[in-house]
Amino acid sequence: MSFKVPLTPISRPAKASVGKTGLWRFLKPVIELKKCKKCGLCWMYCPDIAVTFDEMGFPHINYDFCKGCGICANECPTGAIKMVREGL
Ligand code: SF4
Ligand code: SF4
Repeated sequence: MSFKVPLTPISRPAKASVGKTGLWRFLKPVIELKKCKKCGLCWMYCPDIAVTFDEMGFPHINYDFCKGCGICANECPTGAIKMVREGL
């Protein structure tokens, strides 16, 4: 079963932020897909709509808009998202 993204008034990351916020980041979220249960909480809590889903229902991070706040990693119920230093 895959997660269906519901309609939202903020439909694109550029509409949810002041522009490309990826350059602010010094930590970045990395998703370990084998731990992901496709619950969609990372998308739901991301303040920049920087999480999208592939055709299999797995989440992916849009690093142009992810500012590295870590909320997705904090909310992920399976520990599938780890925050790692940029450039590592
Ligand atoms: S760290 Fe996670 S919650 Fe924060 S902006 Fe990036 S994808 Fe969104
Ligand atoms: S919150 Fe975690 S388990 Fe849920 S979809 Fe995101 S990465 Fe997968």
